[in-house]
Amino acid sequence: LKVNNPQGIATTLFASDDVPVEANAVSELLEMLTLQESVEAFADALPESFDEAPGIEQVALTPDFHKARGVPVGTVLATRGFVVPQAIGSDINCGMRLHLTGLDAETILSKREELDTTFRHLYFEGGRNIPMTGTQRRALFTEGITGLLNTVPKSQDEGTWALFHDLPIADELGRIDHQGSPKAERVFALDDFIGQPGTLSRDNQIGSIGGGNHFVEVQRVEKILDGTTAHAWGIKPGMVTVMVHTGSVGIGHLCGNYYRDVVRQLYPATLKHPANGIFLLPEGERFRAEAALFWDAFHNAASFAFANRMFLALIALRGLFTVCGESESSLLYDAPHNYLWREASGQVLHRKGACPARGYETMAGTEFAYTGEPVLVPGSMGTSSFLLAGRGNPESLSSASHGAGRALSRGDALHGHEAEFQAFLERFRIVTPTDLRRQDVKSRRDIVEKKLDEIRQEAPYAFKGIGPIVETLHGAQIAQPVAELTPLMTIKG
Ligand code: 5GP
Ligand code: MN
Ligand code: MN
Repeated sequence: LKVNNPQGIATTLFASDDVPVEANAVSELLEMLTLQESVEAFADALPESFDEAPGIEQVALTPDFHKARGVPVGTVLATRGFVVPQAIGSDINCGMRLHLTGLDAETILSKREELDTTFRHLYFEGGRNIPMTGTQRRALFTEGITGLLNTVPKSQDEGTWALFHDLPIADELGRIDHQGSPKAERVFALDDFIGQPGTLSRDNQIGSIGGGNHFVEVQRVEKILDGTTAHAWGIKPGMVTVMVHTGSVGIGHLCGNYYRDVVRQLYPATLKHPANGIFLLPEGERFRAEAALFWDAFHNAASFAFANRMFLALIALRGLFTVCGESESSLLYDAPHNYLWREASGQVLHRKGACPARGYETMAGTEFAYTGEPVLVPGSMGTSSFLLAGRGNPESLSSASHGAGRALSRGDALHGHEAEFQAFLERFRIVTPTDLRRQDVKSRRDIVEKKLDEIRQEAPYAFKGIGPIVETLHGAQIAQPVAELTPLMTIKG
């Protein structure tokens, strides 16, 4: 669908035939496009080096398009001459990661109780154990995973670090968007968190899943949908995979708040501030210092998120190897869905709740040069998730849905689905910080109900069907389905 707008910006919505388009998401989008009108007011602050005039050049909306705060989820925005810091959402570098393992699903199912206990210990009861020095944290914030590879010695092999040294992390950087290592000159707003340069300390952010629909999920390859690509990627039926969904948790909020205020203050008093609170940051000479500050703070948070997804996966693998025996593991892919990409054309691509789905031409020179980029589209903790290969559809700005999208608000998900909820709990194993198997926990109705309510908010019926979303991505030649994955155990923060 083409979305007409007074600004005349090329805007395409990839609507699924089975999912109605939310009218309030469309009005939110139209409000956002009025940003184009403040571009002129910034004329003297915009760079002149481009052949084309600065402005919003193109917008694509993914099949899980829905209203959020200010900019709808599923919006991909291509701009020239400025960035829109809020058009990537508040969870900077929220994204998905997928590991393949040599384990088989039957082993997981037969050891679910033990795994439940082990995962709870590792994730929630201090077992993750990832001590770092201030120097290492600083390297992490300025150079991402590469920073850790450069500063963590082999002798530092406590807890999760052992696996960090055992797995081929350095060789797999090419399977992470931006190599998992965005560069920043400085670190902002995080001095207290970083601590003393030479002293090892633990913190409560690194290796934390975060709440809501963030998760770590052990899955099984249920069905191969494209044998050629599956073969190229080493995916086999029955194989166990680990999917991770998280972002920059508390760290990202600190960085985001920091630069949001800076950007707001750039707006001239004479210019009407946008009603939706969405501001642009010109990239010309006049605001060079502010722009540099923005990119640094953004990269600080982004690096943290890349590292956090890596650690969450390492913790899951530790648990699996401890309980099911040592096995191999390789990273398939890690990509953000709340992020900025500077394109070769000079455009800046903003994806908010949308993941890159670049085709093989764009992936030339990478491991995905003959397949297109892996695209991870999760469903819910009680339904299938999908792995696809990007096809680089220009109308979609080479972007795909990053999930099914909510069907019910968190409040609505709490009531009126009891039978469905009980059936779901019987079939699927959800690991949470509270051990609902324990007698002393069971006797506390208040604690149990509170935890169950948190699970209800993210239950399968709270999300739209993933089937129509994947069909739309396929039909519109945005991405080619490669494999269907089903959940074996889901760990929720
Ligand atoms: P986000 O928070 O990034 O907007 O949502 C990502 C997507 O993840 C949701 O739209 C939903 O489809 C999916 N999702 C939420 N919780 C789970 C879960 O526990 N397991 C899986 N596989 N998918 C989930
Ligand atoms: Mn997030
Ligand atoms: Mn997310």
